[in-house]
Amino acid sequence: MEKETVKPSGAPSSQVPALQETPSLPLPRPLPTALIVVGLGLLLAFLADMVALLPPQPQDVVWQVNVLERLFNEASIPMLALLAMLSGLWLSDALNGTKSRVFNAVLGGLALVFGLALLLAIPLYSNNVNRIYTFRKAEILNEKQLRKPEKGSELADQYDRALEELKANTFRNVFRFNANAGVVGVALVLLGVLGIRQTRKRPDVGFTCPTCKSGNVRLSQMNPTEKSLALVTRIHTFRCQDCGWRFRRWSLTGKPFTFLF
Ligand SMILES: [Zn+2]
Repeated sequence: MEKETVKPSGAPSSQVPALQETPSLPLPRPLPTALIVVGLGLLLAFLADMVALLPPQPQDVVWQVNVLERLFNEASIPMLALLAMLSGLWLSDALNGTKSRVFNAVLGGLALVFGLALLLAIPLYSNNVNRIYTFRKAEILNEKQLRKPEKGSELADQYDRALEELKANTFRNVFRFNANAGVVGVALVLLGVLGIRQTRKRPDVGFTCPTCKSGNVRLSQMNPTEKSLALVTRIHTFRCQDCGWRFRRWSLTGKPFTFLF
C-alpha cells in the first residue's frame, strides 16, 4: 500500500502574512513599548511611595486620613500609568492587527477597581476628617475653659484664632482632596470601561444572536408592554439584523451590552 503524500499546492500560505508586515499607520515601532514601559515605571514608583505608609494601623483615624490624603494627592500617577499602558497596548494592537484581550481586561479592570475605590473613599475621608476636627475643636475649647482667659484679652483672642484656623484648614483640605479624588476616580472608571470594552469581539456589540451567532444586533422596536417591562427591569428586546430573530437580554443602558461596557 502506498503512503498518501500531501503535495504542496500553490504558494505556501505561511509566507503570505510577511507581505502585510508594514503598518498602515506612520507610527514609530518602539512607541507602544515605550508607553508600556513608562506606565509600568510610574505604577511601580507609586507603589513604592505607598510602602512608606506601612505598617498599617487601620484602627487609627489619623493614620487613615494620612493614607487617604496621600492617595488622593497622588492618584493622578496611577491614572497616567494606566493611561500610558493602555495607550501602548491599543497602539500595539492597531499596528499589529491583534487584540490583546487579556491585557485589556487586566489593565481595564485595574483602572475600574482603583477608580471606584477612590470614589468610595471620599465619604470615608470626609467622615474621618470631621471626627478629627470635632476632637481638636473640643481640645481647644477644653483648654480655654481650664485657663479661663478674660474676655477681650490676648489669650482669648489666641484661642479664637486657633479655632478659626482649624476650621479653615480642615475645610480647605476636604475640598481639595475630595475634588482630586473625584476627578481622577471618574477618569479612571472611564478608562477602565474603555479597556474592558476592547475585550469584546466588536467594540459596540456585546450580545450575539442566539440562533445565528451574528454580532449584528440592535435594539428592536418594542410594543408598549415590552417598553414598560424594559423601563423597570432593564430587560430589553433586541433584533438580529441578519436573521431577524428577536430575543431579550438584560441591559442597563438599552444598548446591546450588559453594563456600560
Ligand atoms: Zn441571527
